[in-house]
Amino acid sequence: THFGFETVPEEEKAKRVYKVFENVAQKYDVMNDAMSLGVHRLWKDALLHAMHPQPGARLLDVAGGTGDIAFRFLEYVRSQQQRRERRVARSMQTQSWQDISSSYGTEGEDGPRESRAVVCDINKEMLKVGKQKADSTGTSAGLSWVVGDAEELPFDDEQFDIYTIAFGIRNVTHIDQALQEALRVLKPGGRFLCLEFSKVTNPVLAKLYDAYSFQMIPVLGEVIAGDWKSYQYLVESIRRFPDQEEFKRMIEDTGFYCAQFHNLTGGVVALHSGFKL
Ligand code: SAM
Repeated sequence: THFGFETVPEEEKAKRVYKVFENVAQKYDVMNDAMSLGVHRLWKDALLHAMHPQPGARLLDVAGGTGDIAFRFLEYVRSQQQRRERRVARSMQTQSWQDISSSYGTEGEDGPRESRAVVCDINKEMLKVGKQKADSTGTSAGLSWVVGDAEELPFDDEQFDIYTIAFGIRNVTHIDQALQEALRVLKPGGRFLCLEFSKVTNPVLAKLYDAYSFQMIPVLGEVIAGDWKSYQYLVESIRRFPDQEEFKRMIEDTGFYCAQFHNLTGGVVALHSGFKL
């Protein structure tokens, strides 16, 4: 490779990853749209669709960066909530109160529990950009921003219903350690969901994708963020990440049940999931 990330010692890798995201933080959202041609939005929507969170769910989004997954999560549960409320309003005209209250699922005595999301990232610059976004769009309710390492999460055991990590796990030095931590902080019955670049299955698409990523991504990085090297790192880290089946095995080996994956965009990205029993 041109950059030789794999030959650097482990602690050096973590430092370089930190620098990469510190450098790109301010431009991160723009770059994401430019490089994926906007498709990262569809991948993140697919994650939410698979997650299908219920009102009241507690989410931990690790390597959450500027908060995309957490914002989508809160938006999703709110729209679910509104649908329920409309349903209740409709049934109020036709049904008894018992029928109406049974159409609610997870609420306590005083109505539905608030959903909350914690965005955890090792990089405070990325979190800062996310927090500013939340403040300026008036969407900070239900969100918290916590600096922390996926390999050593600053949370007690069994706190969350859902753990997500989107385009983050390939940056972590010890993937198995991050998976152990995911298992630890999930409640029994909780779900692990991971979006990550993977191996393209169609050979024609694979050729196009290779050409695009090796040649175009660092160029876009240079033009938009003035940072060729960070984006070269990005491409190389994708190449080195385990393929779909291998990563699924790692999830199983950690102790998750019903591990499975779905390819998105022909395997450019894979969505892996598993349950803690
Ligand atoms: N999840 C966001 C998204 O999908 O837009 C951000 C993904 S960004 C490509 C990768 C993120 O992983 C960066 O914000 C980086 O700081 C974070 N990261 C890298 N190593 C980490 C670690 N060991 N623990 C927590 N976060 C880490």
